[in-house]
Order: sequence, then C-alpha cells, then structure tokens
Amino acid sequence: MSPVPSGPIDPYGGALVDLLARGEERIEALEIAERAPRLALSETELCDLELLACGGFSPLRGFLGREDYRSVVERMRLADGKLWPLPVTLSAPEGFDLPRDGAVALCDPKGVLLALLRIEEEFEADLESEKELLFARSEEHPTLRRLRERSRRRIAGPLTVLQAPVHHDFPALRRTPEQVRRKFADLGWCEVVAFQTRNPIHRAHEELIRRAIEGAVDGCLIHPVVGFTKPGDVDAFTRVRCVQAILRTFDPRRVSLALLPLAMRMAGPREALLHAIVRRNYGCTRLIVGRDHAGPGNDSRGRPFYGPLEAQELLRRHEEEIGVKVVPFRSFVYVPALRDHLPADEVPEGVSVAEISGTQVRTEYLARGRALPEWFTRFEVAALLAESHPPRHRQGVTVWLTGLSQAGKSTIAEILAQRLLEHGRASTVLDGDVVRTHLSKGLGFSREDREENVRRLGFVAGEITRHGGTVIVAAISPYRASREACRARIGNFVEVFVNAPLEVCEARDRKGNYAKARAGAIRGFTGVDDPYEPPVEDVLECRTDVETPAESVEKILVRLRASGYLREPDALHEEPASERPSLQAVGTSTGS
Ligand code: ADP
Ligand code: ADP
Repeated sequence: MSPVPSGPIDPYGGALVDLLARGEERIEALEIAERAPRLALSETELCDLELLACGGFSPLRGFLGREDYRSVVERMRLADGKLWPLPVTLSAPEGFDLPRDGAVALCDPKGVLLALLRIEEEFEADLESEKELLFARSEEHPTLRRLRERSRRRIAGPLTVLQAPVHHDFPALRRTPEQVRRKFADLGWCEVVAFQTRNPIHRAHEELIRRAIEGAVDGCLIHPVVGFTKPGDVDAFTRVRCVQAILRTFDPRRVSLALLPLAMRMAGPREALLHAIVRRNYGCTRLIVGRDHAGPGNDSRGRPFYGPLEAQELLRRHEEEIGVKVVPFRSFVYVPALRDHLPADEVPEGVSVAEISGTQVRTEYLARGRALPEWFTRFEVAALLAESHPPRHRQGVTVWLTGLSQAGKSTIAEILAQRLLEHGRASTVLDGDVVRTHLSKGLGFSREDREENVRRLGFVAGEITRHGGTVIVAAISPYRASREACRARIGNFVEVFVNAPLEVCEARDRKGNYAKARAGAIRGFTGVDDPYEPPVEDVLECRTDVETPAESVEKILVRLRASGYLREPDALHEEPASERPSLQAVGTSTGS
C-alpha cells in the first residue's frame, strides 16, 4: 500500500486501497497465474478491475463476495456497514470449471494477463432483487437487460493485480486517485467540486460548472467517464475531445481535467452515490448533481426510470458519512428571450424555453447531418461531433445481394455500382465468383467452406463500411444464420433478396453450372442438392423474373434513400442551420 499524499483523506479515514502487487509478491502471483485457467473480463469488469487496482473503489479490496453482495443490494452497505451502493462483482461463464486450487488468471479480451484471483466462494446474482432495488423495477432497464443475457454465476476471493489495464489514448489525462490528489495539493486546492459526465459537454453543463465554481470551492475537476456507458452514447474519444475543445473558456487556475475509467450502471440515485464515493477517493469534496443524474433516459412508454431529483436527495442523506457534499441543480433550460440558461423553476410563466436531450442530439441532429444550434453547444463542440458522427449519407454501408445462382446478383451489382456514383458513392463490389479466385481461393462448397466464405466477405465488408466505404456483396450466401452474423458485425447493412424461381435461374444457366449439377458433375450446388434459406423479415425483395434489372436497382435505391444512406438532392441546397432554437426543441415554461 502506498502512503496517502497530502490533500483530503478518503471517506473512511484510511489509506487508498492499492492492489498492484510488487516485487516478490508479484513474481509469485505471476507464476501461479501463468499456470492457471484464464478468464476474460467483460468491458464492465475490466473497468471495475482498474478502479479496484488504483483505489478508485476504496474501500473495496476486490470483487464482492456473497455476503457483501447481498448486503450491498439490500441495504447499500458492505457487510461491515460501510456505505457502498452498487454491486461490483465478477461473473464466470456457465461452463467454466472452477480449478481445484481456486487460482484463476484474469485477462483482458485480447488475453493480456492482468490479475490473479484465488476463488474462495461462488454464488448466484439475485437479479430479481437487483431489479427491485437498483433498476427501478423495470425489465427495460438497459443494465438489467444486459445482466439477464449473461451468466449469473459470480466468483470472489483475494485479488492480486499484476498490471492495470493498459491505455494508449490520452496518457496525460489518465490519472490515478493518488495522482489527482497530488495535483490538487500542488494547486493548493482543498475544496474541490467534481463534474461527472458521459455526454458531450454542452452549455447547460458549462453553466453548472461555472455556478459550482462560484460557490466556496477552490476548483473543479472535470471528470468525464471513459469506461463503458450506455450503448449508443457518443464515444469516449469524442467526449474527451469535446471537453478539451472548450477547456480554454475556463480559468485554468480553477479547472482541471482527468478521465475516469468507470463502467456506468445507469442506476440513477445509487449510481450518484457511487460517483460521490469514487470522487472522494480522487480527493474531491463536492459533486455536481443535476437532473436525472446517471439515469438511462426514458422507457418505452416515455417515462423516466428514476425521479428527476432522486439522486440529489439520496446523496444529501449521506453527505456527512462520505464527506462529499452534493451541489444540486434543477433542470437547466435555454430561454431564447434572455439568451441565457436558467433553472426551469426560475423561468417566468409563459416564457418560451428550449431544450435538446442527449437522444435528440444523436437522432435528430447528428444522424441527419443538422448542425447543433450555438445556444445548445459551442461551435467547436458541434463541429467535433459533426465530424465524428457523420450523418448516414456520409457513413459507410454494405448492400448484401443474396439469392440463387443466376438470380441476377452480379447484374444488379454492376448497375447499382454505377447508379450509386450519381449520388457520390464509389463502391467496392465483392462478387462471390471473383472472391473465390483470391480472398477465398481454395475454399470448396461444403457447408463449412461456404460459411467461411461468407464470414470472410462479412469481415472485409465490415472493415470497409466502418471506415465510411460502400460495399456491394453479390454472393449466393445460402445460409440465413451466416447472413445474420454479417448483419450484426457490419451494422449498416441492407440485405436484398434477389429472387427468381429455380426454374427461371436454371433456364438462364449462363455458366452451365445447373446442367453440371444435374448431371452430377458438381456436388452441393445451391437449389439442386444444397438448400437455399431465403431471408425472413423486412428484407427488400427483387423479383428478377418479372422486373427488369433497372427496375430492381431502382427499388434498392429507394430503400437506401429511405434509410438515409443517400442524400436527398434538395438537401444539397439546404440552408445552414440557424442559431435559433429549432421548433421541436421549443416549449413554453409552466413556471414549475
Ligand atoms: P449523466 O448524468 O448520465 O452523466 P450527463 O453527462 O448529461 O449524464 O450529465 C452530467 C451532469 O450534468 C449530471 O449531473 C446531470 O444531472 C447534469 N445535467 C445535464 N444536463 C442538465 C440540464 N439541462 N440541467 C441540469 N442538469 C443537467
Ligand atoms: P447471379 O450473379 O445471381 O448468378 P447473374 O447476374 O450473373 O446472376 O445473371 C442473371 C441473369 O438474369 C442475367 O442474364 C440477367 O440479364 C438476367 N436478369 C433478368 N432480369 C433481371 C433482373 N431484374 N435483375 C438481374 N438480372 C436479371
């Protein structure tokens, strides 16, 4: 354990936990770990391990055992009575055989050895109680949903960390609790308010920070989360770049930036309490808590999971105990008439207000290529967001043509490639026949080889798509599951069933393959002696026995346009976005 540097002490009066093994202890643990069975950590567990190792999760000394887990879920306290609001546990896959000596090597997803766990107990997570007590009694809670999909087995025991997860990004901003405390000491800060965020920084956030600094504090630690957050959130790199872009607008003597490798549970009030304890470990004495802090947004009926101020209330009840005061804010809204952000309850009745939610930022602005208004977020931030989240018509896409041999896939691919150029999209055509002469050379027509061929196509198409390219795949790809796997990998995936009855395809037989298959000269030919599994749902169908190739291609273009992958010709002349709030974003204050 390392000594606590000067500056505020941690909530429980002791030193920060430090699980990193050194010297002999490390060598010994390493030897055991190298022989032990390996367990790959999930994204959340990886973040948890990092915070456990560096003391960000003090007073925890490892993943929770059964008694602590139960106690945390039921009464927000460890078995010894210390406040701890959320389970930090380690799961084991259902089929994982516990080693006889209990030693397991914990690794990152790439197999890098990080820690040695000596298992002492195994138990089951109680998701019913977690649902009831942590996740707002809702099956729709995104974290509960994720937990339901995974193994409920939990393992625990003494943890020795061999190395903290390695990060190569933003090295200057990745600071341990001890380093952050030291920085505060160097700056002469005692009263420090932390600002937690997972969304790209916008003007309401800035307003909270400014007002918090005006209070009796020495400075503010802007501490964005860079671990796992809610799927669909703006990525962590962009989130950090956005903060960097506006940092110059603050007095550098009053604001400091560091990154927090926390995996959020989106558990609202309890999560706010966790944020406070973690920030205390980092040497902060206050935490900004606005509306719906760490809430996962609304459920399918449009209702929030937690009350908007519940997080503030819970934190207030435990301020004394953890030594972190809540700096509460009501919901801030923009008042166009005053050109200012105000707490919603200070807006005079009947005055128009404007607000844009995180979801609206993504779906109504970024996805559609609309510029975010200057009142909502600074130009520098809006520009960064637009660059890293291009609208769909500037994202990559894969059009996957599937169907029997001779159904018309290659013909459609060739025409589609030309028509897409009219829309400024140059494409790569991956034609099944051609691919088999290089990328998939040597593969035959057994089920395994066909699946492997489709997997390779999917891999290449996915990489091109991810980097903004357009791919047209023309391959029989007869098995539904293989195509579904490609859809899942690629994301921006438009499947087209190029369909003509077998007799029509067989009659076309330009390559003579059907004749050969019927004569038994080739085996495993789709439609003759191997099945074709047509797509089932929501897949565009081109009936090439009754449509012309040009008509089929037009159908595909219509689908691409409807899905946003092609820019509407009128959009090219669109006015630059006005700085005034858009109508959807404007409401009228009820003065509440
Ligand atoms: P999360 O709470 O999930 O981290 P954000 O990154 O958007 O989500 O929030 C950071 C902090 O700013 C939270 O305390 C949140 O309550 C607060 N906040 C965000 N927008 C507003 C707003 N318009 N008014 C008041 N508080 C806000
Ligand atoms: P595949 O690549 O699916 O094996 P090809 O494109 O090589 O098929 O051959 C399909 C044949 O069907 C071509 O001769 C093409 O002219 C004809 N055809 C007729 N109607 C269509 C259509 N609507 N789309 C594509 N091809 C069509």
